[in-house]
Amino acid sequence: MSKNNILYVKNLNKIYSKKGNKSIQALNDLNLQVKEGEIFGLLGPNGAGKSTFINILSGIVKKSSGEVNVWGFDLDKNPRQVKSSIGIVPQEVNLDPFFNPKKLLELHAGFYGVKKNQRITDTILNLVSLQDQAGSYSRSLSGGMKRRLLIAKALVHQPPIIILDEPTAGVDVELRKNLWENLKSLNNEGVTIILTTHYIHEAEEMCDRIGILNKGNIVALDTTQNLLSKIKTKTVRFVIDNNINIDNGEFENLKIISNKNNELIVSYEKNKLEIEKIINFLVSRGVRITDISTDDADLEDVFVKLTKN
Ligand code: ADP
Ligand code: MG
Repeated sequence: MSKNNILYVKNLNKIYSKKGNKSIQALNDLNLQVKEGEIFGLLGPNGAGKSTFINILSGIVKKSSGEVNVWGFDLDKNPRQVKSSIGIVPQEVNLDPFFNPKKLLELHAGFYGVKKNQRITDTILNLVSLQDQAGSYSRSLSGGMKRRLLIAKALVHQPPIIILDEPTAGVDVELRKNLWENLKSLNNEGVTIILTTHYIHEAEEMCDRIGILNKGNIVALDTTQNLLSKIKTKTVRFVIDNNINIDNGEFENLKIISNKNNELIVSYEKNKLEIEKIINFLVSRGVRITDISTDDADLEDVFVKLTKN
């Protein structure tokens, strides 16, 4: 694995099989690399396999096959080192209501075998903006504070990677922004962050790179910027019977990419133009269209599904 990859996943498969039921392929030959220092988002609708992936990393779920390497440690050979390299923030809030945040973090540090003089409890509480609540009962904390406390819990052993499973599901807009800021400041401290989400906006706002997971398959993997421009612009290829003279700028918002040998390739921003209008324009110019094709249907389909959720 390359040196600046902090997570390396190769041909990872997970099949859940239950007696009497059909088995489910939750992850299908997943290949993925996360670089040190980045914020990586795994975006996908419910049931895509996001939690399965996270749970394999955290050791809760056993993979069916494939290779996982975290921070240089192989999951099969060095499961304990893998575990200590990551801090996991689970999807469900699950906190003992009777301990205050400070006590809870101390207990958790003890659980991880962090010696008293090596604990950074107060620093962590500051980082997640819970210093004022250090002595309050956990049950008296707001929903957003509880989420932040979960993040704090994942940090007690100072792992280089923190992994959050749907960190803002059920969190209101204001707190979500606050949480994003906390995560970004963590990232600025050098922590690599991997998160799952089914909100496009969250992935867009937070992540340097995004992998889109659908039914256990990575259907897109790119920098956030590249993905967004792919989603925003559409390229269409027309096969036409007769040639047409058409210049860039002749039809508003339509960019001519190439126009030769009975093939016309155009691109446009989806929010500015519709395919029907282009077709009408071409027809009005006497063009006979024999075929239309476009390259990014899959990505779009996934996004349409996602935005509907
Ligand atoms: P996501 O987190 O993206 O919503 P999951 O990883 O939870 O997706 O689920 C992926 C698929 O695996 C779903 O079809 C789900 O029903 C199935 N699945 C998840 N956990 C189990 C399990 N313990 N036993 C059987 N099937 C499971
Ligand atoms: Mg999930």
